[in-house]
Amino acid sequence: MTALSEVLAPLPTTMPGLEELRIDLHQHPELSSHETRTNAKLSGLLTGFGYTVHEVGGGIVGVLANGDGPTVLMRSDTDALPVTEQSGLPWASTATAVDDSGNTVGLMHACGHDVHMASLIGAAELLARGRAFWKGTFIALFQPAEETAAGAKAMVAAGLTDVIPTPDVALAQHVFGMEAGAVFIAPGRIMACADSIRVTVHGVGSHGSMPNLGVDPVVVAAAIVQRLQGIVSRELAPGTQAVVTVGSVQAGTKSNIIPDRATLLINTRAYSEEVRDAIVTAIERIVRAECQASRCPREPEFEYYDQFPFTTNDDATTATVTAALRAHFGDDRVRELERLAGSEDFSTIPAAFGTPYTFWGFGGFPAGEQPGNHSPFFAPVQQPTLSTGTEAIVAAALAFLAPEEH
Ligand code: ZN
Ligand code: ZN
Repeated sequence: MTALSEVLAPLPTTMPGLEELRIDLHQHPELSSHETRTNAKLSGLLTGFGYTVHEVGGGIVGVLANGDGPTVLMRSDTDALPVTEQSGLPWASTATAVDDSGNTVGLMHACGHDVHMASLIGAAELLARGRAFWKGTFIALFQPAEETAAGAKAMVAAGLTDVIPTPDVALAQHVFGMEAGAVFIAPGRIMACADSIRVTVHGVGSHGSMPNLGVDPVVVAAAIVQRLQGIVSRELAPGTQAVVTVGSVQAGTKSNIIPDRATLLINTRAYSEEVRDAIVTAIERIVRAECQASRCPREPEFEYYDQFPFTTNDDATTATVTAALRAHFGDDRVRELERLAGSEDFSTIPAAFGTPYTFWGFGGFPAGEQPGNHSPFFAPVQQPTLSTGTEAIVAAALAFLAPEEH
């Protein structure tokens, strides 16, 4: 028996509890930076397994020190989204919450973070029970507010690097609208960086019948929306991967009043620092030029928020993890991860320690029924999703904690 098969041996007996945990988490989703009940649940479980548990910056970290050897950190995110579930499952979420703007919103784990948590709890328990078969330190880190890019930053700002040992390697995984049972991994830059920009343009208010006495910010905003679409198509080299999306335009209250300002929420994605800088520079230039063209009385304002870093898998670490996953799942279940347009704040955590990292994906849906993350239908099937997520963590961690067995 290998260390991996010894450690995984109790999984059939722990799996019913994990399935229940996943359903419990799914039925009690919490918005980003409000993961109170979730944290209490995770903290209690880790303590029960014998982990030393710390609460840091709104997240939970469990440390299992098990003799001399490498330190492996595995991260799960914990937040849900303001999405009203339409999966039709008997255990679908019916939860609601009041968001930061005062609106009542449906709540759902529409990005599968409930699956991530249950998988990491499953692996944390197996590694604790099977500690005779490996040496080193395993850290289970549960991070809040991934969806707003605030959680990893908050944990680092709260002193994470002083609270836990420096990991030799950091790992994370995400469930996607791909085939359940399959794992997706690749070295190098696998996810984009993202910026959100709140742009305020200032006009001059007036009666709707007397536009000549005002400066109409609605017309300015409309010109900006059109013009921004020229950045990717006209300013970047053909073949460059990038996105510029205007997700929200807001101005005014009535048909016969010209408002005095308009607000645009813009989202960008890029795969290199140069392209990111080119996009941001172009957005500011275009917005300023349109304001000038329309004789706006004041300079526009730019507020950057929800900024996600790149995700760039370390070559050596990813080779080790890929080999371990292939050895366990077989080549047909381990596939090449194609570069994703999505973004993640996970890399903020290894960056704070200077630690190399690997992030992989796994599927959660049967063929033909594969919604995208954040869809109201995004509720991964229990199996083989949970067993794959749990086994992937144990296999990847033991590649470092019990390497002689591979
Ligand atoms: Zn998400
Ligand atoms: Zn997610």
